[in-house]
Amino acid sequence: MKSVVNKVAVLGCGISGAVCASVLARNGVSVTVFESGRGPGGRMSQRRETTEDGKELFFDHGAPFFNVSDNNVMNLVHEWEARGLVAEWKETFRSFDCISCKFVDTEKDGSGKKYVGVPGMNSICRAMCHEAGVEAKFGITVGRLEWLDDINSWSLISLDGQNLGHFDGVVASDKNAVSPRFTGVTRRPPPLDLSLFPELALKLQDVPVHSCFALMLAFSEPLTSIPVKGISFRNSEVLSWAFCDSSKPGRSATSECWVLHSTAAYAKAVIRETGLQKPSNEALTKVVEELFEEFQNTGLDIPQPFFMKAHRWGSAFPAMKVAGEEKCLWDWKKKLAICGDFCVSPNVEGAVLSGTEAAKKLLEIFSCL
Ligand SMILES: Cc1cc2nc3c(=O)[nH]c(=O)nc-3n(C[C@H](O)[C@H](O)[C@H](O)COP(=O)(O)OP(=O)(O)OC[C@H]3O[C@@H](n4cnc5c(N)ncnc54)[C@H](O)[C@@H]3O)c2cc1C
Repeated sequence: MKSVVNKVAVLGCGISGAVCASVLARNGVSVTVFESGRGPGGRMSQRRETTEDGKELFFDHGAPFFNVSDNNVMNLVHEWEARGLVAEWKETFRSFDCISCKFVDTEKDGSGKKYVGVPGMNSICRAMCHEAGVEAKFGITVGRLEWLDDINSWSLISLDGQNLGHFDGVVASDKNAVSPRFTGVTRRPPPLDLSLFPELALKLQDVPVHSCFALMLAFSEPLTSIPVKGISFRNSEVLSWAFCDSSKPGRSATSECWVLHSTAAYAKAVIRETGLQKPSNEALTKVVEELFEEFQNTGLDIPQPFFMKAHRWGSAFPAMKVAGEEKCLWDWKKKLAICGDFCVSPNVEGAVLSGTEAAKKLLEIFSCL
């Protein structure tokens, strides 16, 4: 690589953007991460809630854990483990059949080692966006990405019209940042004008997403009637998973916190009824009631929680992968890379692989200039 320091803007501080930023910075690139949210993590966020009487509660309301099968990702996870950012969650999971109301022996999914961020799922993204060479700016949505041919660089403008500066290269780590055509819950036009990239536009057409509602619950006593800390539900139209968040390593055990996930079909039906806009309190209250009722219908002797709140993930899981073996998309001339789980597989491992490849691709491009 030439001695000149290249400047790259990364849109999004989910795991793909954070990993990408970290790899770029470790290779001498000056990286600025712009994230719409108030903090890092994206779908690996941790939600902080304060009850009326001032009790603080934390929930991993997005990805509850992740599995790893790829050797390169495993090496990275070992590095994160050594830094105290992740730990293995060794609790047992079982499937529960909602017709017979019994636990059945095998896990439906989630087998293999389960890793969690410590003390929250967002710990990895948080650490990576504070590494040397990375500057992270939160609460900033990139509203427009303009390629300036005359100076061979990108100009970034925020959604509220602020000039965010010029960059040699750009990484877009969220499908909503690049494609207007994804079905599901897209709230605004994408910052990138895909008509400038006809080849990429073809690949980014009509990628559907599955939605999911998460219900956060806190109990004053441990749920002793449940013999495991993770449940995958069979034969429920409403619930797909339940996790005891407070049983993860590094969490406070003061309250027993659980997170329930709805099925994609349930979420789709609710969104069909309530629309794509931000759900009203009324709509969310109904979701709280329905998910909790299904949990109680298991007959597992679930007491009344002292805290309940629902969250909608409009684009929880992409339903197809757009990048194949390449693991990311890119435009060589305009030094643009697109990464995220939608490029590889709808999980944390897929997002890590994609973010890593996007960084490698940009480094390759810079080294050839
Ligand atoms: C309920 C739920 C359960 C899940 N369960 C699992 C599981 O058990 N195991 C597993 O491995 N995975 C699971 N996943 C999936 C996993 O969370 C995702 O695959 C992974 O976190 C995706 O990371 P990402 O970086 O690709 O995208 P994201 O995490 O979505 O990050 C993209 C970021 O870009 C930001 N952004 C978008 N547009 C802009 C813009 N214009 N300007 C600035 N910022 C922008 C967004 O705010 C977001 O933070 C789950 C997800 C959900 C929602």
